[in-house]
Amino acid sequence: MVDAPARVAVVGAGVSGLTAAYRVRLADPSIDVVVLEASQRPGGTLRTVDVAGIPLDAGPDSFLGRKPWAIELCRELGLEMTRPAATGTWLWTTGGLVPYPAGTAFGIPGDLGELFHWKGLSGRGRRRALRDLVIRKRREDGDETLGGLLRRRLGDEATDRALAPLLSGLFGGDVDTLSADATFPELRRWERTQGSLIRGAQAALRDAKGGGSPRAPMFVRPRDGAARLTDELAGRARDSLRFGSHVDAIAREGGRWALRTASGPVHADAVVLAVDPATTRRLLEPAARDVAADMAQIPVVSVGVVLLVYAEGSAEALPSGAGFVVPRGEAPMSSCGLVSAAWPAPAFGSRAVLRCTVGGTGQEDVLDADDEDIVRACTRHLAALLPLPEEAEAAAVIRWPGAVPRYQLGHLERVARIREHLPPGIFVSGQAYDGIDVAGCVRGATDVAAAARDFVDTTRKERTP
Ligand SMILES: Cc1cc2nc3c(=O)[nH]c(=O)nc-3n(C[C@H](O)[C@H](O)[C@H](O)COP(=O)(O)OP(=O)(O)OC[C@H]3O[C@@H](n4cnc5c(N)ncnc54)[C@H](O)[C@@H]3O)c2cc1C
Repeated sequence: MVDAPARVAVVGAGVSGLTAAYRVRLADPSIDVVVLEASQRPGGTLRTVDVAGIPLDAGPDSFLGRKPWAIELCRELGLEMTRPAATGTWLWTTGGLVPYPAGTAFGIPGDLGELFHWKGLSGRGRRRALRDLVIRKRREDGDETLGGLLRRRLGDEATDRALAPLLSGLFGGDVDTLSADATFPELRRWERTQGSLIRGAQAALRDAKGGGSPRAPMFVRPRDGAARLTDELAGRARDSLRFGSHVDAIAREGGRWALRTASGPVHADAVVLAVDPATTRRLLEPAARDVAADMAQIPVVSVGVVLLVYAEGSAEALPSGAGFVVPRGEAPMSSCGLVSAAWPAPAFGSRAVLRCTVGGTGQEDVLDADDEDIVRACTRHLAALLPLPEEAEAAAVIRWPGAVPRYQLGHLERVARIREHLPPGIFVSGQAYDGIDVAGCVRGATDVAAAARDFVDTTRKERTP
């Protein structure tokens, strides 16, 4: 009897699963890779929808320039990358949109004069923020909440009004429950090494300037949208991709892992779970109770994306910039991107295209409203802020239930414990572990693919007489 080839089964065809599959296959074509995806399409949260004949990103729409992993993978796959045509972010205030100071690192200005005169905060709020320069460092070493760190150093007003809206968006909001170590370790390092966040920002801005190479743009994306990355990866996975394959149980069977799917069992030597934390917990409960308990400590939050296409001629009136962010609960949206200004495309014509994010921690009930009500709330608010009509010509609301894992206090230790206690041959990958964004997922999946391949190699050698 001929032995079955070594196999890695990947559960989930989002960017994490597809990257892991691509990396395993590339490194060792003798390994059979199977990707099991519950839905009928690849990409997970990376998805394009059609609004008034324009293909628009419904999930991620760009990758952070300072994290190279997704951008490098796109280049490796031959995708053409573009930079935004307009940059600059505004802060929503009761007096209208106020631009963030020009030179900031993580929203913290390096120029004291600019901070002193910045209209985004009251005089009192600015004076309190400047006390960061003299306040003593925290003595304790352990993790603290991002809100705790920002409030301690810069005060409540700067935290709530200026920094939380900018920093917590991708993490589902609420800085007061997020882990500083797991979200912005740089800020913790600045306090340790510079004794101040403002001095840390100054040093970071100086380094970026003095580095010789041009500063990386804040955001980058493939020419036809972020979902081109997963489309390309899915194209390369071809025959190994099995859609409609919801995995509902995993068990040890005959020295391999058996994955139960509606279309029958799949056997594999190694399994990469690249799905949401709740599904991972359910699948691992029978084989790894400790891991499941830790997984239960990674809650998730729901968000929504509202895509708006306005009438022809509306784009020219828009100011030039990437978009604005909103302090918690002050407007129907938590952020708004001026897509037609930042990422212009011939398909837009002269139509303004905007993208609002709604929901998030403490505001998930917004997503229970009808699409029309959500759209109306956004467009009315936008008409009062920007030179736009009260109604968009076409709109789409895309809900992402439970799509954002919360990096709560102690998150890094939790993830380390999860990985340490996984049964041999089981690996976890995805935005719950290695980074909330696409770049973090790509980096994490690359590491996991190498570990899964090593595991299969060792198992193969042990089996060889
Ligand atoms: C609205 C929104 C906007 C965002 N914007 C950005 C951005 O601009 N830039 C950025 O870098 N990041 C952004 N992110 C984060 C980014 O989308 C994620 O980090 C990334 O897409 C997560 O990919 P993943 O593969 O880990 O998970 P997912 O994309 O969730 O993929 C998981 C896959 O597993 C499948 N699955 C689930 N259960 C099973 C099962 N039992 N069996 C088989 N298959 C299963 C699902 O169908 C899905 O396809 C955004 C996220 C959201 C929600």
